[in-house]
Amino acid sequence: DPSKSKYHPINDACWRANQPVPYLALAKTLEAIEAISARLKIVEILSNYFRSVMVLTPEDLLPSVYLCLNQLAPAYHSLELGIAETYLMKAIGQCTGRTLAQMKAAAQKTGDLGAVAEQARSTQRTMFTPPPLKTRAVFNALKDIASMTVPVLKRARAAAHGAAAGPHAHAAQAHAEGGGGRRCQQRSLSSLEGKLRIGLAEQSVLQALAQAAAATPPGGGVLDATKGLSAAEFKAKVDEQALIIKTTYCECPNYELIIPVMLEHGVAALPEHCKLTPGIPLKPMLAHPTKGVHEVLNRFEGTRFTCEYKYDGERAQIHVPKADGEGPDLPNASVFSRNQENNTSKYPDILQRLPSLLKSEVSSCVLDCEAVAYDIANKQILPFQILSTRKRKDAAASEIKVQVCVFVFDVLYLNGRALVREPLEERRRLLRENFNEVEGSWQFAVAKDCSSMEEVQQFLEDAVRGSCEGLMVKTLEGEHARYDIARRSHNWLKLKKDYLEGVGDTIDVVVIGGYHGRGKRRGVYGGFLLACYDAAGDEYQALCKIGTGFSDEDLQTLTKTLEEHVIETPRNYYRYDNAHAPDAWFAPACVWEVRCADLSLSPAHRAALGLIDPERGVSLRFPRFIRVREDKTPEQATSAQQIAEMYLSQDQVKNQTSKPVNFD
Ligand code: ATP
Repeated sequence: DPSKSKYHPINDACWRANQPVPYLALAKTLEAIEAISARLKIVEILSNYFRSVMVLTPEDLLPSVYLCLNQLAPAYHSLELGIAETYLMKAIGQCTGRTLAQMKAAAQKTGDLGAVAEQARSTQRTMFTPPPLKTRAVFNALKDIASMTVPVLKRARAAAHGAAAGPHAHAAQAHAEGGGGRRCQQRSLSSLEGKLRIGLAEQSVLQALAQAAAATPPGGGVLDATKGLSAAEFKAKVDEQALIIKTTYCECPNYELIIPVMLEHGVAALPEHCKLTPGIPLKPMLAHPTKGVHEVLNRFEGTRFTCEYKYDGERAQIHVPKADGEGPDLPNASVFSRNQENNTSKYPDILQRLPSLLKSEVSSCVLDCEAVAYDIANKQILPFQILSTRKRKDAAASEIKVQVCVFVFDVLYLNGRALVREPLEERRRLLRENFNEVEGSWQFAVAKDCSSMEEVQQFLEDAVRGSCEGLMVKTLEGEHARYDIARRSHNWLKLKKDYLEGVGDTIDVVVIGGYHGRGKRRGVYGGFLLACYDAAGDEYQALCKIGTGFSDEDLQTLTKTLEEHVIETPRNYYRYDNAHAPDAWFAPACVWEVRCADLSLSPAHRAALGLIDPERGVSLRFPRFIRVREDKTPEQATSAQQIAEMYLSQDQVKNQTSKPVNFD
């Protein structure tokens, strides 16, 4: 029982040393976590489970961590399950002798596919009792399924797993073992769908690892390192280890490298072994939105800062490793997206041109850039929509029609040295010194070090005239000018032209429902229910309905994409008003960028409910569709907190509220 507060990693575990960790132990841990919302307690329960795994069966720590995060590999390996609900139903139906229609009806009734599967399984007679599930076996089975590229194969395999050796088959057995069968079943089902809802944010998992590591010395042996430490000393140790683990994870987001080092050498050894490395994408620094030039100057008063054009394309983190001999290893260079996905095969043209960018002294580097569609003949930046017509994978350089110019704005690693702790001024100097600009191919982001409001305003207008989205304003010197990996930092402010038109920034929303179109829009969805993501409650909160900004063609393609995500009943983590219940519900998968006139309080919507008003949520007024954000996951949609901040920063609201609200 990992929720015991005086937990003993050996006596309280339900398995013995060197045995594979039963899946039931993980399922029970997640079940205990699901029942509570206090973050400290969540971390404690998870760390108790990790402690047992570290002491008894360390090789199962990696699969455990991955399953908690609902991941199978680092993001840049692009290994995802994402099996549609209908296929899961078919698979469970096949192995329990039910038709798809029966499965659908049952799912509709209970609203929970896990419960349906368990019920189907527990009433089915089997010839023999299958052995209990093991955590590593479930993980390997899921990985196996995800590795199949042909969808049909994937489905067939999922069904086979259901019928024979895989996770679902043994759920009833696991249930008999300790009442956790339903959980096991649900977990593996949710994992198959690629949407495990347990509220385990990455930061909680990292914190739990730190806490477990602080109580478990490397290499096993002594059982409880907390002995001899006062509570305050132990907390200080946890904090110190958490900082090391989190920083290491930012620079090297790969548990397959971090966990073995942690187990063998301890947390303190991580910075030495797991460093920023070309080939492993790091989580990018993000910017804070502002509402205008005034706000920029208020925030950066007394600080030297620079303004750069904010290009409207796709983030491209370019990695060039060092060759075995001298110089760079160009054939193994890669391009990663904002989400650490591997975009290398999308941009063969960028890779081909790399030699013209690197001066002869460069043997390895990581560059932060924006790839922008570009009209070479007219030397003109083209809108994002044009870039989005490029093939997303396996593009052949000879067939590429939309050319891109890469605007380089930062260098994070150069010739074997990480530069993330250097101030921007120094990084910019190194960038300009070591790399070439090639018109229409490689250009440095246009920049100007401004000091007055007039200068910033003028430069913003220049940027907009130059087909950019606005400006990025960045601090230049001192500690505040470091590259804040993975953070939406106050040291990078974005100043978009949108602020001239409304609320300062566009909003990224998750599409959770669709309304059938009428008249001209018959046959496609004509309107949609949009939600923001609330990390605190791990839920999607309805924000508004939308029906504007779509071309006929948009509606055709969006409908086609959304059809793949239709679910029978709304998820139990959707918050919405029944009055807005859509004709079709969608699993959280598609993220869209929208613009609105302003934000208002609404009794009918649930976004940011409780953050501003106990009974009313925030809603978008006059929302318009701008584009699909393929580079964002649903959890990266605009958060409930950001919605609340945007609501409060509106002039008309500010003038009414006298109470300062601080979300930091
Ligand atoms: P959005 O792109 O909608 O503004 P976001 O959440 O993707 O939101 P932000 O942190 O808000 O990212 O804005 C930073 C993004 O702007 C970067 O991810 C990058 O793709 C792009 N960008 C364009 N020009 C620059 C630049 N000069 N410096 C930094 N980022 C830039």
